[in-house]
Amino acid sequence: MSVASLLDHAATGGRLSVADGVRLYREAPLHELGAAAHYRRQMLYPEPVVTYVIDTTINYTNICNVHCTFCAFFRPEKHAEGYTMSHEQVLDRVKWAADQGATQIMIQGGVNPELDLSWFERLFERVRREFPEVDIHSLSVSEINGLAKVEGMTAREVLERLRDAGLKSLPGAGAEVLVERVRQRISARKIVPDEWIGIMRDAQLLGLPTTATMMFGSIERDEERIEHLEVIRSLQDETGGFTAFIPWYYVPYATPLKGQEATGLEYLRVLALSRLYLHNIPHLQASWLTPGLKMGQLALFYGCDDMGGTILEERVVHDAGSTNTATRTQLENIIRQAGYTPVIRDTYWNLRPEMALAT
Ligand code: SF4
Repeated sequence: MSVASLLDHAATGGRLSVADGVRLYREAPLHELGAAAHYRRQMLYPEPVVTYVIDTTINYTNICNVHCTFCAFFRPEKHAEGYTMSHEQVLDRVKWAADQGATQIMIQGGVNPELDLSWFERLFERVRREFPEVDIHSLSVSEINGLAKVEGMTAREVLERLRDAGLKSLPGAGAEVLVERVRQRISARKIVPDEWIGIMRDAQLLGLPTTATMMFGSIERDEERIEHLEVIRSLQDETGGFTAFIPWYYVPYATPLKGQEATGLEYLRVLALSRLYLHNIPHLQASWLTPGLKMGQLALFYGCDDMGGTILEERVVHDAGSTNTATRTQLENIIRQAGYTPVIRDTYWNLRPEMALAT
């Protein structure tokens, strides 16, 4: 099949093989790839609307025993710069975000073996009780796995306990690129790709919706990016539990791994290919946090239907060297200037138009 025919096939919802994905990634002209992804996005969401969520990320601890080489945020145990927030400190941050309209909080940190499951249960129960308007979309697969080790339990048992304490959904963090060669090079102490998928499957089968991410641009090859998409798509075939896919690129400036930042064109290519390849995942998020708001705006023409969150605060990506921030007004302006109406959503993609800023 020609590249043009493959693009037509994918733009109308046809399924691509791994070989098709690699071929389109390498050979399709960028704007034709983008046009096909945009067509697909318009088919899925014909209304001229772009959604976003008011959210924040609370990085409650930077102590971590995983030591990823692409991470500038973590500190090993006993390090003088290590910190762990108290419950009161986390709740203060939740209150600050809730006062600004946040409906979603991501409590996420390092894999700190000094924190046990009851620490999180007590925290989540307090958040649920004191801030019922806020959904707890929190903890990475790595943190769930770390808690399972601390407790001598299965990840499924940990997820069940956390769900009962108030966890509403699981972010897709910690996937990077789900290929064993890549994991060994950038996060050798992290769980292997099959374990990541297993914990995601457990979460989804327990009724917790999840997102999926890809941190690209470290050391992976282009065909490994497509392998990652294939792993995510296969689990979605099985469970239907992913709400959105969020590709974002590695920020190298302060990390041990170093390297080069991905270019804007590469970012757009990954987005468009993701929209076409992941025909079974409903939403594609523009991750403005690493490429910035202007690229985030362009992303709306390369397959994205969602601007992600306001991310009122965050440390992990900023410690790696990102300086990007956004206010609600800025997010709404770039959406409007792209010809769409901004609409607030919650974690489950329920629209909350009553929360939009006055124009
Ligand atoms: S990316 Fe997460 S798991 Fe890896 S070192 Fe940083 S905090 Fe730890």
